Amino acid sequence: MRLSRYFLPVLKETPADAQIVSHRLMLRAGMIKQTSAGIYAWLPLGFKVLRKIENIVHDEQIKAGHIPMQMPTLQSADLWRESGRYDGYGQEMLRMQDRHERDMLFSPTAEELFTDIFRSYVRSYKDLPLTLYQIQWKFRDEIRPRFGVMRGREFYMKDGYNFDLTKEDALHAYNRHLVSYLRTYERMGLQAIPMRADSGPIGGDDTHEFLVLADTGESEVFYDSEITDLTFGDREIDFADKAQCQAVLEEFTSRYARTDETHDEAIFNEVPEERRRVARGIEVGQIFYFGTKYSDAMNATVQDAEGNKVPVHMGSHGIGVSRLLGAIIEANHDDNGIIWPEGVTPFHVGIVNLKQGDEATDGACEQLYAALEAEGFEPLYDDRKDRAGAKFATMDLIGLPWRVTVGPRGLEKGVLELTCRRTGESVELSMEDTIARIK
Ligand code: ATP
Ligand code: MG
Ligand code: MG
Ligand code: MG
Repeated sequence: MRLSRYFLPVLKETPADAQIVSHRLMLRAGMIKQTSAGIYAWLPLGFKVLRKIENIVHDEQIKAGHIPMQMPTLQSADLWRESGRYDGYGQEMLRMQDRHERDMLFSPTAEELFTDIFRSYVRSYKDLPLTLYQIQWKFRDEIRPRFGVMRGREFYMKDGYNFDLTKEDALHAYNRHLVSYLRTYERMGLQAIPMRADSGPIGGDDTHEFLVLADTGESEVFYDSEITDLTFGDREIDFADKAQCQAVLEEFTSRYARTDETHDEAIFNEVPEERRRVARGIEVGQIFYFGTKYSDAMNATVQDAEGNKVPVHMGSHGIGVSRLLGAIIEANHDDNGIIWPEGVTPFHVGIVNLKQGDEATDGACEQLYAALEAEGFEPLYDDRKDRAGAKFATMDLIGLPWRVTVGPRGLEKGVLELTCRRTGESVELSMEDTIARIK
């Protein structure tokens, strides 16, 4: 992409109403624009990162054996009356009527819709296990939308629903989700710690939230510092292997880690004092096992091997896809701007032309641009006639992992300057070596 042809409306001023750094940086970097309270337009750069995050979520869900589909955002209230949640859900639900005065709502979550799809088609235990999921816009009329995409009213969420014959199978689905979530967050350069939590309006007994530690997080968390030493890494996993998934759950929940809702001072005090941590965290996902709560209420049954009709065991599992942009920036930035982890960066490398219009410099930039594209990278080439300082500031703000600076002085020596955004280190290299270093 050439910056002269792109749409990147960066702001020079720091927006006054943005309280936290990720919100400020997303506005300044031209990623989002608020259109009304808690509702955002995703400008090209923000949309690009959103898609990258979404793709990682899809990839890991599909690896875990879960099946993507898409539900509508608008639902009929009838299904929610059937499950008993219509009245209970409260003011976070945006309710409306169509021209025939039928009650409708904008989906805040989709247990009812998925349960309805399931009961419409699935009859036999032989069709289980089954996990369906979607990545779709949700609406919750939050009383205090704030912090940009972190607490929006309209937000993008991955929500998955497992249907199983037995509790044991459903707990395996729970564990599969835990493993796939650990992998998902790590691919985005994030450490998200599973913490025992409270189930809230979804209902159920077993639930973990995934929290990214950050001072600006809205949850208070209590944990044993040893939990932060655990990483999933690139170990092989067979998602069909119950024992293997269970072992991962046990490992990652082996240390005390709870949100304030389930925090137990007596148990916490058993952790050696020097390892006890009280901190703040951003909830980036949550998994639930809730048994037959919805299948009982909505009559979602299958025939078991003996021919009996039994309600299916279910769980639901969410990832805050749009909130993740905020969480990633909270964890990866400096005074000059964002520092994207490689896995989610909107472009891999920025090219800064120090003397636009100079034949040799323009030529070298074009050659580099083509070579990077040929290697499968997405470069962003600042080909505008602008001061070097302004170009550097933009590149630092939008946070691409690498910057290549091309100018007449370097070219005389046959070198370009390669700068790493995270460390700030620069090296002078030939074009060939520059490309090799980025790889
Ligand atoms: P919170 O406690 O932050 O209100 P929640 O527990 O109500 O979140 P869930 O129902 O567990 O949310 O939804 C799954 C995920 O969707 C959450 O873990 C979070 O990452 C994301 N999410 C929930 N509400 C919002 C929101 N208003 N804006 C952005 N993301 C959200
Ligand atoms: Mg909430
Ligand atoms: Mg919550
Ligand atoms: Mg939650």
